Amino acid sequence: MSSLIERDRATLWHPYAPASPTLPLWEVEAADGVALRLCDEQGRTHEVLDAMSSWWAVIHGYRNPVMDDAIQRQLTSFSHVMFGGLTHQPAVELAEGLLAMAPGEPGRRLERVFLADSGSIAVEVALKLAVQFQTATGRPNRQRFLTIRGGYHGDTFAAMGVCDPVDGMHSSFPGLLAGNVFAPRPPAAATATPEGIEEWRVAVERLAMEHSNELAGIIAEPILQGAGGMFMYPAECVRILRGIADRHGLLLILDEIATGFGRTGELFAADHAGVVPDILCVGKALTGGYLTLAATLCTGDVARTVSAGEAGALLHGPTFMANPLACAAANASLGLLATGAWREDVARVGAGLAAGLGPALTLDAVADVRTFGAVGVIELTDAVDVTAVTRTAVEHGVWVRPFRNLVYAMPPYITSTAEVGVMAAAMVAAVETTSHQRVAA
Ligand SMILES: *Cc1c(COP(=O)(O)O)cnc(C)c1O
Repeated sequence: MSSLIERDRATLWHPYAPASPTLPLWEVEAADGVALRLCDEQGRTHEVLDAMSSWWAVIHGYRNPVMDDAIQRQLTSFSHVMFGGLTHQPAVELAEGLLAMAPGEPGRRLERVFLADSGSIAVEVALKLAVQFQTATGRPNRQRFLTIRGGYHGDTFAAMGVCDPVDGMHSSFPGLLAGNVFAPRPPAAATATPEGIEEWRVAVERLAMEHSNELAGIIAEPILQGAGGMFMYPAECVRILRGIADRHGLLLILDEIATGFGRTGELFAADHAGVVPDILCVGKALTGGYLTLAATLCTGDVARTVSAGEAGALLHGPTFMANPLACAAANASLGLLATGAWREDVARVGAGLAAGLGPALTLDAVADVRTFGAVGVIELTDAVDVTAVTRTAVEHGVWVRPFRNLVYAMPPYITSTAEVGVMAAAMVAAVETTSHQRVAA
């Protein structure tokens, strides 16, 4: 009888992996709070702290009693019903909750929610909304998007088309991706100068002007680009994007799928900039990492205009739209956020990461260390040895999943100060190991 890992290797795909991956694989036997119990390929057990929150999602920890209870209660009622012609309490409650917490100002308010089944789909819906909006206002040629380099917006085709054109997967699908307009990346938050920001503004404004009659909107991750490189840029640049969108008749789409729900120290990263988008995408932590769900919020103006257009409807409708179990999980997560404890937790986790990762700066292999909210990043000078770093971190009791030249953490908000210290120490130790190896090689 082969092991579970062997059976996995014979049958499954993993994210961005070949059919027979050479990277190690661990079986999760249990998850509770911040801890995962892993079994490796030799059958050894490892208790590790999850520094990844399962890709930004599990902000309240595993087996959270409030979350578990909410889903169990919904389960005894019903698990799923179609959303065409039917509605239910978890969906309505979630829409009201999201709209109440989303950024807003007197002239611009998010008033309508589309519930999607994943982040990529929420982005697809946002792009459709923008194109349908432009068509409905008599500008059907506006079908492209302006975005900034280094972005990540998902893996479906339209979403992939606004990801970074070099680091994204554009070269593999040249015939299938829309030609979008890519502005330079803003200056880095840590080193930005007013002149640098102004230079960037001029470059983006020029592109918007050149292409305005074919652009439907601007899409960006505000302040923190996640999977595109864990890159932080000044809040002022988000305000600049807002201004450019307004001057050129573009809708501003903010993708807060990674940054939403407190991760950056504000409920939404846009709140640091005081910017209200026309369209907002959320996902990942929306259900506290329990079930797959995402949402696209738009202003009343966008909703009314699209609905009054020739199509007469927003042209999207997933089978599992507004899944009640997922909505119940999201409502429980929003309830936990409403207590406000996340704010102190995020600050505490962030401070712990900053203190614990700081020593990595002295290592030869390290180019930069940066933290923002409850996110900590070690940027290496070269591509990371994923196997070596992951293995060393597991030996030190921590789960990380590095990519490209980045070893990073965004722990659950409930992580204790001592646990954050363990995570940071493991990351530094793992990076140390690979730098020695690199020198030896
Ligand atoms: C993860 C992510 C997505 C895609 O979400 P999926 O649920 O993986 O489809 C889109 N945008 C950003 C900013 C993300 O971090």
